[in-house]
Amino acid sequence: MADHPRFGPAGVPHIFRILGAQSFDVPRLLREEGLDAFEYQAVRWGQKPQIKREDAERLGVEARKNDVWVSMHGSYYVNLSGKKEVVEASKRRLVACATAAQWMGAYVVVFHTGFYGRFEKSYAFKNCVEALKDTVETMKGLGIRDVKLGPETMGRVFQVGTLDEILTICEEVEQMQLVIDWSHMHARRQGRFRAVEDFREVAEEVERRLGTEAARDMHCHFSKIEYTDKGERRHHVLDEPRYGPDFAMLAEVIAEFKMRPVIICETPLLDVDAMKMRDTLREVMDR
Ligand SMILES: [Zn+2]
Repeated sequence: MADHPRFGPAGVPHIFRILGAQSFDVPRLLREEGLDAFEYQAVRWGQKPQIKREDAERLGVEARKNDVWVSMHGSYYVNLSGKKEVVEASKRRLVACATAAQWMGAYVVVFHTGFYGRFEKSYAFKNCVEALKDTVETMKGLGIRDVKLGPETMGRVFQVGTLDEILTICEEVEQMQLVIDWSHMHARRQGRFRAVEDFREVAEEVERRLGTEAARDMHCHFSKIEYTDKGERRHHVLDEPRYGPDFAMLAEVIAEFKMRPVIICETPLLDVDAMKMRDTLREVMDR
């Protein structure tokens, strides 16, 4: 896993697009900004990869050359707890993402597990675990062994994806990567992270359930977030004092636990705020 904490944007930063950058230009441009991670957005993909293999491979070559770690955000059209047809289509979408992730050398496909819908929560969750086991079997059959699937902690109360559920998936299914979206957890629990201690609690829980290495190697999403009583509403930039959580508090815990997470910035200022977080962590570590 990562050799040191890494930072990067969720998708291609606005300024890169203005510059007319292709996806294979992104790693070089990120390196120029001193960033070293990139989450490719495959969020609208269907049941086939929507990137050509040669383009994906070229992105991978450039990423390695520029020491940028690539991850992929998988299709939003995944619900592993739904009706049978929905679950089957969702599995194929995950496999399509994993196939392209392998081409580009991405180490994880982050995804949203699903919705409880009309099912009882524990039943919906059980379906999700079974569907994931199947998906991993299919991936193995296709020779996809270097790409993990990364179920993410979700921000709305009707979505599968509490911390406990995500940890349970990581315990029960092979080839999983823990993905902690701190903002989602903040929103789901109405402003859970108010002090360093609140972040530490999560790190300790992860360590207790999955071990020290898994806690150090977590893949993270971070942004400021606005929420309602149902949870997540909207992502905000780091400089908005009205919203939490505060990255400086997480930085304390990263330093304390000697973590080396990959931290993907999901604020509207993708690369700019990623650099801010990187600098905040540096200041904390230098103290
Ligand atoms: Zn997500």
